[in-house]
Amino acid sequence: MLEVHRLVTRSHLSSFVCFLEKLGNHQRLFGKGVSAPKVKGSTRLSSVCKRCLVMSATSVKSYEYVILGGGNAAGYAARQFVEKHGLSGHKLAVISRESVAPYERPALSKAYLTANPPTRLPAFHTCVAGGGAPQTPDWYAKNGIDLLLSTEIVDCDLNSKCLTAKDGSKYGYGKLLIATGSDALHLDELGMQGAHLGGIHYLREIAEADKLYEAMKACAGKHAVVVGGGYIGLECTAALVINGVRVTMVFPEPHVMARLFTPEIAAHYERIYAQKGVNFIKGTVVDSFADENGSGQVKYVRLKNGPVLEADLVVVGVGAKPRTTLLEGALAMEARGIKVDGHLRTSHADVFGAGDVITFPLKMYGNRMARVEHVGHARQSAMHAVDVMMGATTEPYDYLPFFYSRVFHLSWKFWGDTPAQAKTIVVGEMNPKLVAVWIDQDGHVVGTFIESGTEHDENKLKELARTRPKANVARLEEAAAANDVDGFLNAL
Ligand SMILES: Cc1cc2nc3c(=O)[nH]c(=O)nc-3n(C[C@H](O)[C@H](O)[C@H](O)COP(=O)(O)OP(=O)(O)OC[C@H]3O[C@@H](n4cnc5c(N)ncnc54)[C@H](O)[C@@H]3O)c2cc1C
Repeated sequence: MLEVHRLVTRSHLSSFVCFLEKLGNHQRLFGKGVSAPKVKGSTRLSSVCKRCLVMSATSVKSYEYVILGGGNAAGYAARQFVEKHGLSGHKLAVISRESVAPYERPALSKAYLTANPPTRLPAFHTCVAGGGAPQTPDWYAKNGIDLLLSTEIVDCDLNSKCLTAKDGSKYGYGKLLIATGSDALHLDELGMQGAHLGGIHYLREIAEADKLYEAMKACAGKHAVVVGGGYIGLECTAALVINGVRVTMVFPEPHVMARLFTPEIAAHYERIYAQKGVNFIKGTVVDSFADENGSGQVKYVRLKNGPVLEADLVVVGVGAKPRTTLLEGALAMEARGIKVDGHLRTSHADVFGAGDVITFPLKMYGNRMARVEHVGHARQSAMHAVDVMMGATTEPYDYLPFFYSRVFHLSWKFWGDTPAQAKTIVVGEMNPKLVAVWIDQDGHVVGTFIESGTEHDENKLKELARTRPKANVARLEEAAAANDVDGFLNAL
């Protein structure tokens, strides 16, 4: 044994034992008929990392559980391992390419840009939005979780259960939770002319939020173009306006939030944005960007239908793509995401998925497969996946779709589904409330929406989207015609 200790550090003992076991040599050290020992803080070593140990006996760290990704899902999964399942003793690693511990990502386009003073870490580490304390790096250390930051995994060998980081370090796992999230779609990847210029911003990670914040402050009184009419575009526009920047929004759809809002709902939000000086250019897309005198900084935004806008700053929010590259060819995919079953299991044994990156069956809609890029799903799927990994549940994941956004003084929430043929009834003038319901062809309430609801309103609408009762359409239409929000809510 002394010889072993001289060859490898204590933390590498487990890897070395596994290496010897692979070569059939461990009996020479531990005695005939004795299997390789379970080393404190790591999994039974024969189940992990065999091939990568052969490659490098002294540079592999092995864990029973690894979370690949350090975002919203990762933070909630880590908490579930610790608080629900009592995991400790360095059996779990969270591996993230970001330089900070998991945080509540939605804050980046809200209080991070708009609050005075702006919200900064550690205030919004996960799981503050789930009612927990901010999980700072100290929390991970105190609970015996290895938090490996600034560590980008570049290879994932599912057969040998080995992850390889950019710097060559290797990590073995017993069970893996993939929570790599999604990335903003970048216009330069689509080959758009001028899309590489300085001053064009995307918002996904904290480093990008820092850059946008600085640029926004420097642009007070100047002009920005926001490309995209979804929630990122709307939230960034609100942040720019609050910081004194004049904004033009450009998007191809006929109104904002076209994937969720009806024209009637959108009109209310657009009215408020217009009152704050926001200019909308709808029904067209950006063709190219250009600088001035070779400055390398964006100055002009050319639209497809001809006009050229001047811009001191551009923010692009045109959608996201799931980060699946590492696993393509190794795992079954569907609808651009990693396909999981109702128990969040991928097509490979001992590999699970959570959050933006997975395509999963929506149990309440007959197991229709869906990919959802919203934080409620990231949190809930992560916690459910951990329960499955720990053998604590045999129940399938049963998610009620839920989206929300906050801009200016406004705050909306949506639950449920918006089938193409659904009838929508809207009531209210945003003073402060606006309520909408989606009713399917069989007359059932399937989707509910509220602006500035009370907790009581929100609980009721959430419950309705879950239980899908038959709607009293005549009463709802009557209340809507009378602009009677309370009567409408009572009729539901
Ligand atoms: C600006 C912004 C505002 C948002 N606002 C809202 C909102 O108001 N409401 C709402 O419902 N949703 C909102 N969302 C969406 C929500 O934040 C996401 O759905 C959620 O963060 C998804 O969690 P996730 O863990 O799946 O992915 P992420 O939170 O994106 O985490 C993925 C993590 O994996 C890491 N990673 C990826 N690849 C690797 C690799 N190879 N090696 C190591 N690490 C890797 C990433 O660096 C990142 O840390 C917002 C998103 C953004 C960007």
